[in-house]
Amino acid sequence: MLYMADISTQLLVYRVLVAAVAILGPTVLFFGLLHLLEFLKDDRLVDSLAAQGVAEQPRPAPVDFLGNLSNVPENRCEQCGAQNVPNATHCRECSQRLQ
Ligand SMILES: [Zn+2]
Repeated sequence: MLYMADISTQLLVYRVLVAAVAILGPTVLFFGLLHLLEFLKDDRLVDSLAAQGVAEQPRPAPVDFLGNLSNVPENRCEQCGAQNVPNATHCRECSQRLQ
């Protein structure tokens, strides 16, 4: 029969380390992935890759382009204030129905 006293200190330390890796590993990997995704959505990364010719130059969304034209009527969302294309039926940010 195996008693707790039969487990050597080395084996106990080994088991605690394995448990720590098993518990903390996924958390560390998750935050690493989160950090990587935050870095990837950074516009400066896209701009620097586009400058090197690695990535395609980002194209502005139609609404960003239309927002700079003064003769296009505004179609702002009443709920969140996002500007939408003139004939949009729903907000591109919050999906609220537009008038
Ligand atoms: Zn909205």
